[in-house]
Amino acid sequence: MKITVVGTGYVGLVTGTCFSETGLTVTCTDIDEEKIKKLNTGIIPIYEPGLEAMVERNVKKQRLFFSTGLKENINDSEAIFIAVGTPPGEDGSADLKYVLSVAAEIGKYMTKYLVIVVKSTVPIGTSKKVISVIQEQLDKRGVQLTFDMASNPEFLKEGTAIDDFLKPDRIVVGVETERAEKTMRHLYNPFLLNGHPFFVMDIPSAEMTKYAANAMLATKISFMNDIANLCEIVGADVNLVRKGIGADPRIGTKFIYPGAGYGGSCFPKDVKALIKTGEDYNYPLQILKAVEDVNERQKRVVLHKIKTHFRNNLQHKIFVVWGLSFKPETDDMREAPSVTIIEGLLEAGSKVKVYDPAAMNECMKHFGNRVGYGKDQYEPLLEADALIIVTEWSEFRLPDFVQMAKSLKNKLIFDGRNIYNPSEMKELGYCYYSIGHQSI
Ligand code: NAD
Repeated sequence: MKITVVGTGYVGLVTGTCFSETGLTVTCTDIDEEKIKKLNTGIIPIYEPGLEAMVERNVKKQRLFFSTGLKENINDSEAIFIAVGTPPGEDGSADLKYVLSVAAEIGKYMTKYLVIVVKSTVPIGTSKKVISVIQEQLDKRGVQLTFDMASNPEFLKEGTAIDDFLKPDRIVVGVETERAEKTMRHLYNPFLLNGHPFFVMDIPSAEMTKYAANAMLATKISFMNDIANLCEIVGADVNLVRKGIGADPRIGTKFIYPGAGYGGSCFPKDVKALIKTGEDYNYPLQILKAVEDVNERQKRVVLHKIKTHFRNNLQHKIFVVWGLSFKPETDDMREAPSVTIIEGLLEAGSKVKVYDPAAMNECMKHFGNRVGYGKDQYEPLLEADALIIVTEWSEFRLPDFVQMAKSLKNKLIFDGRNIYNPSEMKELGYCYYSIGHQSI
């Protein structure tokens, strides 16, 4: 059996590679010629643990192929997965131009029955638009072909994407026909052997499930950040409060860590898109508006602490930022809090040096020569006024504080992820700012 995955980004590449791992023949296509050229020479364009070896293995077995051509690949496939980007448009709604342009291409070139699977995160009602774009192309060609739609939102997390795909918490599939359901069950069967649930529903419910999941997670983060800021004001310690509430199984311990705000390619845009859907249907989503507002403020909280410490005079100060990606184990800097913090420091006249285990190339694309790049995490600290921690990579958790104190101009750390113990930092003589805990 063969499938085609259209869009070879974080989701498409992982999806295609994991399906090929089950023995399917998969072609991943993309309009980005450079990306396909790289993949065809064994270069993986993104940082994702475990992906490179899996791609290499399946390419060698001649099950995984990369191509810029959609036309020559769709008609020997059973299903076409659309995994292109859905970035926010100017009004916050998901921009569907990439999804609909793929739909038009499929309509232009299909010659047999296909299951068209939308894996991109798309607003409720998108599948109908995809159907009408495909049908329009078929009508133009004067051909009559049947096809089925499926909505199959993806829940993988960058950094653990391979594991998430191979051992999913659940698979959600929205379909309208038994034939499409059968194909989807067949494709996902290898991932369900451990008893993970396979939820079949109507297409609008599947589309909504993805948004509701991300909106709920973003809500947990913003809620906890709001509580953390209040903890600081009233003299409570959010680390203790977090443990105290997390022990309640109705609340749970996950996603209640305060920090420098959520970022990445999904939460910000999906929260925006769901707010826009609410507006379109004249049902304002008040909680989500607050979630977004709190997050925008939270991305500036570390900056605010820095400005307050230096009495608003950041001219010519040197800051080192550890961690640039929006979370550890990825190189993705889309909407990362690091971008807001670095921009704020540069605007205030500071010099910024950065270090990240994976996202240095991405940072170069964002900031070019406006920031300095450390050879390792310690080298840029020499004569710096302070260290700022924005992403909690493992290698930042137990650094050589004594060596760092010798390099830094001031023993001063702003920690946007609460990775150090405030009393240990005090013993070491550092001035330590964290989130939701009074500075020491
Ligand atoms: P991405 O930007 O990494 O990749 C999208 C790819 O699609 C790019 O390589 C682009 O060149 C390609 N593309 C655009 N138009 C095309 C066309 N007409 N034909 C072929 N290729 C085309 O995006 P991503 O992060 O992989 O996200 C894809 C979708 O999956 C989005 O809707 C996103 O919300 C959703 N999603 C992402 C994640 C994640 O963690 N990144 C998780 C779950 C869901």
